[in-house]
Amino acid sequence: MKRAARLLLIPLLIGCSFGAHGQVQTETDRVCAPCVRAHMEFLASDAMRGRGSATHDELLAATYIASELRAYGIEPAGDSGGYLQRATLVRRKLTGPPQITFKGPNGASVTWNYGKEFLVSHLAQENFSAPLRKVDIDKGEPEAAPGTIVLVVGSDPKKVRSAASALGNAGTAGVIVVRTADPAYFEEAARQLPDLTIHLEGETRSALGVELNLLEVSAEAANILQELAEDTTLHFEAPSTTEESYTWNAIGMLRGSDPALRHSAVLLSAHLDHLGVGKPVNGDDIYNGADDDASGTTAVLELARVLGTGPRPKRTVIFALFGSEEVGGLGSMYFREHPPIPLRDLAADLEFEMIGRPDSAVRPGALWLTGWDRSNLGPALAVHGAKLVGDPHPKENFFERSDNFVLAKQGVVAQTISSYGLHSDYHEPSDDLTHIDFQHMDKAIGSLLGPVRWLVNSRFVPQWKEGRKP
Ligand SMILES: [Zn+2]
Repeated sequence: MKRAARLLLIPLLIGCSFGAHGQVQTETDRVCAPCVRAHMEFLASDAMRGRGSATHDELLAATYIASELRAYGIEPAGDSGGYLQRATLVRRKLTGPPQITFKGPNGASVTWNYGKEFLVSHLAQENFSAPLRKVDIDKGEPEAAPGTIVLVVGSDPKKVRSAASALGNAGTAGVIVVRTADPAYFEEAARQLPDLTIHLEGETRSALGVELNLLEVSAEAANILQELAEDTTLHFEAPSTTEESYTWNAIGMLRGSDPALRHSAVLLSAHLDHLGVGKPVNGDDIYNGADDDASGTTAVLELARVLGTGPRPKRTVIFALFGSEEVGGLGSMYFREHPPIPLRDLAADLEFEMIGRPDSAVRPGALWLTGWDRSNLGPALAVHGAKLVGDPHPKENFFERSDNFVLAKQGVVAQTISSYGLHSDYHEPSDDLTHIDFQHMDKAIGSLLGPVRWLVNSRFVPQWKEGRKP
């Protein structure tokens, strides 16, 4: 009913006038506030159970998006004539608790048990063995030690953690930190077996996620490691099995009217998944992901509506809503390997992430673009009316934290538009509809309609700046 009523309104709104920069602007170049609200109220509803990556809820979200794209006159560009693209994901799953074994100083074999001497904070492999290294960060910057298992100690636990993840991401087989807690904590935490990272079928790494084996040991266990000779081989082993699941992208295409521009399409993207149902916080276990990223998905749908129901753009426009971003950019990685047009024919990707609330770090109404000074895309959009500025949170490294980076690594000028002001509801059940600023969202999307319409009708091919291509 909702959709039929909306379609009836469209003919009444169509009318033409000449807008800024001499282009024809139609009255459909306006945000449909009820549409924005409708998408958000569906996607971020409790009924969607947080759109967990590679779940049936994610499939429902993708199906809703596909149905909206159909209503806007966007052609399907997914698998076998439909909008959906299905990717197989593989996760190794532990079937029993892991153990660590090594030879003690007297040559006797020692076995440590999960939940007694150690816990697992992050796991990429169910089996790994490597020689021990010890690093005290109070004694200076640790050197990378590829192929070893590094015990990291220091007086500041926060600094120890960040040194550990830096080492873990630099080719180290594993990293161990000390967890000072009583035995009851270890026992309780070990009730759940650790999760292994998830991959696309046929791949061994994810595109965005951390691939790291990070273990926590008790203070007593750490003392034993301190007494071991460096290069003592530690073996981490756990019984495991393989589990398969599917993740879902929704992909649509609007074929460009100008054949001369057929090799420079524009991709508009967001991720449709979030964290699903998880650990309750204040009695709420649904991680709705209203801002992250129902808001970006809604922006892409609104752009699809405006472009699909207005005059046909000169350039081909692809609308892609990716699954499984939250578990390592897996939907976009699959899209990258199975694009509806050759990747080299993609001139630009704009990803939309978390535009549901304003960021007080930028002026009111402004949005920011990750990797602003890496390419000439942001400045060009700004010249054509976008209220777009550079990312005010460079320390967060947002450029590398969304689907855009998956495509940027293959050369596509791919950047993310956002107004995430580092709010504390990020990745919490409270990222829900009650915290969305709909006026901000409507204005944010509205401010992009003109600049995006310019982009999809122009011959402008954005370029990475010298030395700034990822
Ligand atoms: Zn996100």
